Amino acid sequence: MDILVVEDSTSLRATMSHIIKEAGHTALQAESAEQALALLKEQSPDMILMDVELPGMDGFEATRHARKHLGDNWIPIVFLTGKSSDQDYLRGIEAGGDDYIIKPVSAVILKAKISAMGRIVEMRNQLQKLNQELEALSQTDGLTQLYNHRTFIHLAQKQWGQANRSGQAVALIMLDIDHFKLYNDHYGHPAGDECLKKVAKALEKVAKRPGDIIARYGGEEFIIFLTDTDAEGARQVAEGIRAEIEALQIPHAESPTNTVVTASIGVSTCSSTSARRLNDTIKHADVLLYNSKNHGRNSVSVDQYLPSKTILLADDDPFIVKVISSQLGSHCKVITASNGLECVELTRENKPDLVLLDIMMPEMDGLEACRQLKDNKETARIPVILISKLSDQDQLQKVKKSGANAFLEKPIEELRLLSKINHFLT
Ligand code: GH3
Ligand code: MG
Ligand code: MG
Ligand code: MG
Repeated sequence: MDILVVEDSTSLRATMSHIIKEAGHTALQAESAEQALALLKEQSPDMILMDVELPGMDGFEATRHARKHLGDNWIPIVFLTGKSSDQDYLRGIEAGGDDYIIKPVSAVILKAKISAMGRIVEMRNQLQKLNQELEALSQTDGLTQLYNHRTFIHLAQKQWGQANRSGQAVALIMLDIDHFKLYNDHYGHPAGDECLKKVAKALEKVAKRPGDIIARYGGEEFIIFLTDTDAEGARQVAEGIRAEIEALQIPHAESPTNTVVTASIGVSTCSSTSARRLNDTIKHADVLLYNSKNHGRNSVSVDQYLPSKTILLADDDPFIVKVISSQLGSHCKVITASNGLECVELTRENKPDLVLLDIMMPEMDGLEACRQLKDNKETARIPVILISKLSDQDQLQKVKKSGANAFLEKPIEELRLLSKINHFLT
């Protein structure tokens, strides 16, 4: 142990340090209360031997400050004093001390007290370690008793692998309570906690199949993994949850969108888990959740992962290719081209379900590529979405003439892109 000796007498300090070393510990030294408190800011001793009679701040006062500084981190503080009245003893314990040694200090007694206190320190360390382990082992959220975030990921990952082997569809529901900050501000945090508990119960009431994993994902966000559930099934569950929460009729006087507590929901479904990761599905559900937030809240947005569909993306800007591919990659297959010529060739070869075509490209631009695709019998039916930064009237006219099915202005926001694509693919 590192033992701090606070003692103004140089000779006594030296003697005690010597005894501490003999007992197999390390001695730290301070000659005043002020020095001891300064030292505590830099170092963390395991025990303090504190002289009561010190010049300036006395040992009792120093102990009070030390306890305040240490907070929950309890360490034994033992007083050294020449006084031995009951009253002094009481004052010392009240100041936060744990024991007394009466001067003159006997080496035998000092060693015995150090070893007794050492046992308590050891027990405290074990308890702390055990508490940490318990916390790590705990699978549930303390407030709602649902699974916590970490456990959710663990269990969902397992189910994901299972679905991969069996070929089952899975769905992910992400839910966020609407205007919950305003609820807390108005009704108070304890009422907020009660509300979270009621919402948790509502989720359990609706999603009650054995494979369903319900968890508190964070603050006022919940997540549900549905095994063997397709888009329509997931939409029904999500709608059931939305209605159940509304039916709780928990008054929310401050909500700008309703008179009771409601929730916004995003549902991402995946007909084949083999080509996609759980993490992307969670992200996708989150995007859809914000779609619900943006459409007046208290609503459900569902989207489907379409692994059998292919999109061809042609853009000469590698950065845009990277961004859009990663957005679409968690949605369907993506082929890329960096100019119009390549795009036309790849479209003929691969017959994608949709072509996303940048207008401004070197050699053959997007308008010309689109015209060629539309002029060819084999590719004419494939929908083409032109993308570009500029969107003046002149360009829009050209877009129309090119035969393109739609136009998206850059920069392309993920949700806008997904909803446009979904329109053509489903
Ligand atoms: P939005 O409709 O856009 O989701 O608005 P919001 O107010 O719900 O969202 P925001 O993220 O701004 O606020 C979330 C609030 O949830 C903030 C915090 O006070 C509250 N919250 C998070 N965890 C707890 C909790 O454990 N108990 C309570 N009572 N409130 C919590
Ligand atoms: Mg939130
Ligand atoms: Mg919220
Ligand atoms: Mg370009």
